[in-house]
Amino acid sequence: NASSVSLADAAYVKISEGDFGYVLDDVPHLVDYLPDAPTYPNPLQDHPAYSTVRQYFVNEDDNVPQKVIVQKNSRRGIHFRCAGPRQRVYFGSDEVKACIVTCGGLCPGLNTVIRELVCGLSHMYNVNKIYGIQNGYKGFYSSNYLTLTPKSVNDIHKRGGTILGTSRGGHDTKKIVDNIQDRGINQVYIIGGDGTQKGAYEIYKEIRKRGLKVSVAGIPKTIDNDIAIIDKSFGFDTAVEEAQRAIDSAHVEAFSAENGIGLVKLMGRYSGFIAMYATLASRDVDCCLIPESPFYMDGEGGLLQYIEKRLKESKHMVIVVAEGAGQDLIAKSLATSEQQDASGNKLLFDIGLWLTHKIKDYFKIKKMEMTIKYIDPTYMIRAIPSNASDNVYCTLLSHSAIHGAMAGYSCTVGIVNGRHAYIPFYRVTSTRNKVKITDRMWARLLSSTNQPSFLSPKDIDEAKETDRMANKPPLPTGISQASAI
Ligand code: ATP
Ligand code: MG
Repeated sequence: NASSVSLADAAYVKISEGDFGYVLDDVPHLVDYLPDAPTYPNPLQDHPAYSTVRQYFVNEDDNVPQKVIVQKNSRRGIHFRCAGPRQRVYFGSDEVKACIVTCGGLCPGLNTVIRELVCGLSHMYNVNKIYGIQNGYKGFYSSNYLTLTPKSVNDIHKRGGTILGTSRGGHDTKKIVDNIQDRGINQVYIIGGDGTQKGAYEIYKEIRKRGLKVSVAGIPKTIDNDIAIIDKSFGFDTAVEEAQRAIDSAHVEAFSAENGIGLVKLMGRYSGFIAMYATLASRDVDCCLIPESPFYMDGEGGLLQYIEKRLKESKHMVIVVAEGAGQDLIAKSLATSEQQDASGNKLLFDIGLWLTHKIKDYFKIKKMEMTIKYIDPTYMIRAIPSNASDNVYCTLLSHSAIHGAMAGYSCTVGIVNGRHAYIPFYRVTSTRNKVKITDRMWARLLSSTNQPSFLSPKDIDEAKETDRMANKPPLPTGISQASAI
């Protein structure tokens, strides 16, 4: 029903004063869906594979809460629609013309998602018009569409990368929607990170403005695990597992030299999840540096002094650094201006190389013999196929996306508190998932590596305040804080 957006917004307006000046009522957080009620019976009801499932269809009113633990006196929280097949669907099988696009950087599992979208649409909903858009958003208007069939995608999950190709930049909403309209596409599956999901929302809004009956389903991809709301993104487990190999090599190098240092740079532009989990899993790491936790190089309790102490104690050490860590330190020392990629993302300085030079210079002055080996496995990790658990996860995400699009929803799919849910686009793009250094997980890491936290009491207070404010839910566009209270 067409009023779904305003209904969702109403959830924000019907609010009363709470911890943060406003709290949300527990009206389910509705995703956008197409006008008119879905009219077709879901073909799955006659599907032999599902005949044994006791309650296969998801009740419209089933919700997934964003927070499992509700504190005393706090109001009821945000809920999302439960993902899964609906009793009635919006499109007849032979009406569906679906397309799939992958955008942004590579991540293990992209091909599995493509495969499962094609096979799921075909096997569950008898859809046979499925197209692949080549090389990201710009492929909507600058390349031929590929025809995808279960046969053509059968083996692709065993390969890394994306068979469709990907790119940054090139998001021209008008041209993209012109092409969707001209080609009669009515289901658009968009796989990509935060930038891609913002692009998906723009496409959805333009589709809505033109009154087109097109579902847009976003499948969030981020190797960094930095997408908000969802528990975990696909490819993350694979990345952590593969990062172990780099850490193992760094450990061997460090162990085999006198005063050997193995330095590994891992992905994590804004969020250090891969570095944190790889460090916790490995147990060979003596120091883990992430963007969320500032550090300093020199002076009492600085990184260089810690390295010296560790070398004197055990003659070798392993450092893991997330690519986004210490960027402020480098910017200050190089005094260069910021550069951007084609999508407008900030280009990062190479923290690994910078640290290598700084560490070498320090020990040269100290006249202390040491060897440092710097390993950057980023592109090797991004390019591998997904592991078993990510493959299963990709399948479930793809199926959620298909069921949602068939029911006429436009949203992002993901696991919230262990349950598959439909999440409005703006929810996943308005904030970023970050390692909370005020959480127990980071404390566990510090106790596992035995590294200093590098934080002053003032830094710790600031981190706690940031954390408190991060719990304040963002308002949807168009609703001001004043009108909400
Ligand atoms: P990752 O950063 O994980 O590699 P991403 O999806 O964030 O993935 P980007 O290169 O930032 O990667 O964006 C992918 C696509 O989304 C690009 O084609 C870009 O033009 C488009 N895009 C990014 N931000 C926006 C935005 N705010 N509005 C519309 N399109 C956007
Ligand atoms: Mg991004």
